[in-house]
Amino acid sequence: MPELPDVEVFRQYVESTALHQRIDSTGIRDKDMLKGVSAPGLRKDLKGEGIESARRHGKYLFLEMEGGKWLVLHFGMTGSLKYFKDPDKEPTHTRLIFDFENGYHLAYACPRKLGRIGLTRDMAKFMREKKLGPDPCDPGLNRERFAAIFGESRATIKSALMNQGLMAGIGNIYSDEILFQAGISPETRADRPSKDDMEALFSSMEHLLEAAIDARPDPSDMPSSFLMRDRDKSGKCPKCGKALVKKKIAGRTAHYCPRCQK
Ligand SMILES: [Zn+2]
Repeated sequence: MPELPDVEVFRQYVESTALHQRIDSTGIRDKDMLKGVSAPGLRKDLKGEGIESARRHGKYLFLEMEGGKWLVLHFGMTGSLKYFKDPDKEPTHTRLIFDFENGYHLAYACPRKLGRIGLTRDMAKFMREKKLGPDPCDPGLNRERFAAIFGESRATIKSALMNQGLMAGIGNIYSDEILFQAGISPETRADRPSKDDMEALFSSMEHLLEAAIDARPDPSDMPSSFLMRDRDKSGKCPKCGKALVKKKIAGRTAHYCPRCQK
């Protein structure tokens, strides 16, 4: 399920494939996925335009159109993008497709339809309305601000890490991994870790997100010390070999090592 590193890879993908191509037509295969914009409105707004830039905040991808509006894509649990020429290569479950004047297409596929497609004039306003917290890759999010954000939450640290209103971009898999790398139990209350533990958490988050984006997030390319490589295979801790615990925390199935995470 796309979390920050996956969406960052989609952003880089759009940048390396589809920028500045003029849109001839926009196919909307599922208008139920449109939020705050109608199908005719979207088609009309995007006709003849090109994608000027691609930006990301948390799990949202924003495509800046030449006319100044932003197409907003959220990928839900199963969304992805594909740029291709041959119409036979169109992914199944395509919900939105741009046909460019150069003969290529950009498809947004979303099998489980938990993603969404929107259009906004003002990206900052959109993020305010969604009450999104800062992005972990934002250089303005330093150790102090990170500690302050979590120091005010009385939820479990796993729940706080996944709370998009505190910080946007981390979901189930990456919250487990960050906590594993920092050696902190997911059930610790967010305002409880010591200053040193908060620093370890911040460093592990930064390191992990960078490594995941570099691996263009395929778990098999991650370092062998990463939990996400083994969590659904051997079910054993990659550091000490003990069986991982699986437990529902904040509505999601957390995986953690009872020996390495205190
Ligand atoms: Zn362990």
